[in-house]
Amino acid sequence: MVLFDAVIAAGTIVLGTQSALAATKPFTIVIDPGHGGADLGTVYNDGKTFTAEKNVTLVIAREAARQLRARGIRAVLTRDSDRDVPLASRTQLANRIGADLFLSIHMNSTATPMVNDAEGTETFILNNTTDASSRRLAHLENSVIGGNPNDSPEQLDVALILKDLRLDANLAGSKQLACLLQQKLVTGISASYRFSPALTHIRNRGVRQALFHVLLGADMPSALLEVGFLTNARDRSITAAPYGQRAIGRSIASAIEQFKLGRKTQGAAAVPAGGAAAVSCRIH
Ligand SMILES: [Zn+2]
Repeated sequence: MVLFDAVIAAGTIVLGTQSALAATKPFTIVIDPGHGGADLGTVYNDGKTFTAEKNVTLVIAREAARQLRARGIRAVLTRDSDRDVPLASRTQLANRIGADLFLSIHMNSTATPMVNDAEGTETFILNNTTDASSRRLAHLENSVIGGNPNDSPEQLDVALILKDLRLDANLAGSKQLACLLQQKLVTGISASYRFSPALTHIRNRGVRQALFHVLLGADMPSALLEVGFLTNARDRSITAAPYGQRAIGRSIASAIEQFKLGRKTQGAAAVPAGGAAAVSCRIH
């Protein structure tokens, strides 16, 4: 019993020290604009307009960071220009500065736009999934310059298993982050386009799981946002236009702000009525 109490006491001291550290360090999110430099990401080209994922993700990430800073939240970008950044360096930055959240921003595409005109916004958390469309998307996002082409699926499985403890610790936070992002994106875009009936409903594809290499190294809750499909005309009108990009940035900032608020109240004896309640959603 004495030993048990001592362990509890030691645990309390450790927790107390962590809380003290957390109190002095500003809440920080690392925002990762997908791709960059020679890695264009997915591309839309109809002969008249050329849109590359790497440019759209950079503008949206900058916009989200600007709106977060306006709300007093520290936001750091993994790249603030059109340059190559290896996947591993992106989470390494977040780990090095002790970020509270890591968010990677991407644009989706479909292999056969004329046959299957997929559309909508979806948010992913890290998992080794068996879902075929998630696997295809993960394969696309993972096959970038700077990745390790020698990594076999087995090696990646091992890497994932080694990360299991860390994943477990961050899973609840990652789910919370993904649910908030998904909810704020869908409602935020709808509200911003309420006077444009053709654009007002971006399809809600929900929160899903996939094995994204860029999230593997994160030591904190993380998510990967596929804002919309570059292959879909309606999604493109929103995500590639400055007005839509501001709305998306505002929605991301709002989700992060609510996450921060929710985490603060978690430690309190009682969550105040009307305060930031935890958001839950179905994980596909
Ligand atoms: Zn991408």
